[in-house]
Amino acid sequence: MDYPGNLFVVAAPSGAGKSSLVKALLELDARVQLSVSHTTRSPRGQEKHGRDYFFVSESEFDQMVLADAFVEWANVHKRRYGTSKKAIEDRIAHGADVILEIDWQGALQIKRIFTNAVLVFILPPSWEELRSRLERRGEDAPDVIEMRLENAKMELAQAREFDFVIINELFERALFDLKAIVHAQRLKYTSQRRARADTFQALGI
Ligand code: GDP
Ligand code: ADP
Ligand code: 5GP
Repeated sequence: MDYPGNLFVVAAPSGAGKSSLVKALLELDARVQLSVSHTTRSPRGQEKHGRDYFFVSESEFDQMVLADAFVEWANVHKRRYGTSKKAIEDRIAHGADVILEIDWQGALQIKRIFTNAVLVFILPPSWEELRSRLERRGEDAPDVIEMRLENAKMELAQAREFDFVIINELFERALFDLKAIVHAQRLKYTSQRRARADTFQALGI
């Protein structure tokens, strides 16, 4: 599928720092827009409906699946999460860059549909650090943290399917890496050709 905007997909095991990195990127770069997912899990602390997620019931989620409203959806940590068509299609068609913060199963589904999508996997620096970040975040119950760490073993092995890998040890360094990936994508021939059509034309190419 061809479209003028760039699609970035960021995946990571829970606690690796995906949401913090994406949030920081959005604050620095107004051209990147976040795809807000639908989920059947409950909101955590400061999370707001429509900003962090659209929090929906199991039956509302079912209805959306039946109505073919999702580009992709997956079961993650015993809950369902999905990217609606609405969250991305209009925006990339109009040239916006859209970033998806989704699990690896969703990322691979997106790559099959949008072959130009850029897949970025965030790794924690170590198992110890992953656990302590989940504990420090203090948003999940102990049994939920254990389940997320257990799932992380298999999730980490999916990094090989991704285009880029960022190790989130020093936050600022990892953010720099994420910005570099976004920037490089915008310098690709087809992106430049579209964004700077006047320059190409003036140069007669
Ligand atoms: P986090 O892992 O601590 O960021 O916890 P979240 O509850 O925010 O996300 C749970 C999982 O669902 C993560 O693996 C996300 O990447 C994934 N996820 C979030 N949104 C989507 C989505 O739209 N589609 C898919 N496939 N996965 C998503
Ligand atoms: P995810 O969205 O991948 O589950 P979060 O962005 O919620 O992860 O990060 C998990 C926790 O780790 C948060 O409390 C966050 O502030 C912290 N964190 C993120 N990146 C770093 C880092 N480079 N060093 C230390 N702590 C970090
Ligand atoms: P959390 O519950 O911690 O917000 O997210 C748990 C996991 O679900 C994360 O890995 C997150 O990226 C993933 N996730 C969030 N939204 C979606 C989505 O729309 N689709 C898929 N496939 N995964 C999602």
